[in-house]
Amino acid sequence: MEIKKIAIIGSGTMGNGIAHVAASKGYQVILIDIKDEFLERALKIITKNCDRQIKKERLTEEQKNELLSNIRTSTDLNAASDADFVVEAATENEQLKRELFQKLDSICGDGVIIATNTSSISITSLAAETGRPEMVIGMHFMNPVPMMKLVEVVNGLTTSDETLATVTDLAEKLGKTPCVVNDYPGFIVNRILMPMINEAVYCLMEGIAEAEAIDTTMKLGAAHPMGPLALGDLIGLDVCLAIMEVLHSELGDSKYRPCPLLKKMVAAGYLGRKSGRGFYDYSA
Ligand code: NAD
Repeated sequence: MEIKKIAIIGSGTMGNGIAHVAASKGYQVILIDIKDEFLERALKIITKNCDRQIKKERLTEEQKNELLSNIRTSTDLNAASDADFVVEAATENEQLKRELFQKLDSICGDGVIIATNTSSISITSLAAETGRPEMVIGMHFMNPVPMMKLVEVVNGLTTSDETLATVTDLAEKLGKTPCVVNDYPGFIVNRILMPMINEAVYCLMEGIAEAEAIDTTMKLGAAHPMGPLALGDLIGLDVCLAIMEVLHSELGDSKYRPCPLLKKMVAAGYLGRKSGRGFYDYSA
């Protein structure tokens, strides 16, 4: 099936980034979320990111208008019914995603691949919620999507070779570099990245250094472009906690236990950039 129209479920940090990239490559995008205000916010962010690209002379006003005209929004999941391809990028919650996959399976046409952008939830178990397990796959974009080249293409136990080939090809058409990995908790990027961020939170909690100092040590000492705490704020501390919880429960090793300070930050609603406060203050 030729992919022309892509439905994206969830318009948060990742969903609006995926919509931006897909629309910029000429795909028709239907962006779906549960509230109009979330969709309005997503369109504002996409517009702001386009304006930033115009300033840098990487995009013209005409291209921006074309890109925005390729995006439609809806609060009704049924709007995915005529899509040729679906990327689920809703909140990292296993029960929510299981229910979404059941619903999407009944809404989407036969032969439509349902991909998930999940950072840590088993692709194989989401596939098992559908009547098309061979057409369910992980398509794990990195944040910020318009900037980051990698897409981890995650092969579930039941994913077919044809689905894998289609998704690898789509990732390339979106200007990304696909890297195929097998379904395993955290895949590759988060299996390595999240324990590092979690350990940085332990360093802060144990009073070893202030947040700025922890980030500076990793920037200057390990040549990381961004410190682990600032990166946690960018990703979203709720997302980081959800991934650590999956690593901990699925792999059963105490080395993956989420730091109590990370749990406390999330309980307080300090989620990082998206809430205006995390390890740093973004209210300005
Ligand atoms: P987010 O909290 O910014 O956005 C999630 C969006 O999903 C919200 O707008 C929410 O309203 C929406 N949503 C919740 N239930 C829904 C439903 N039933 N139908 C439609 N929309 C629904 O989260 P995010 O950071 O964009 O993460 C989304 C997914 O991408 C998660 O699975 C996460 O693990 C993954 N991911 C995140 C990052 C990151 O850096 N944040 C990176 C790679 C992958």
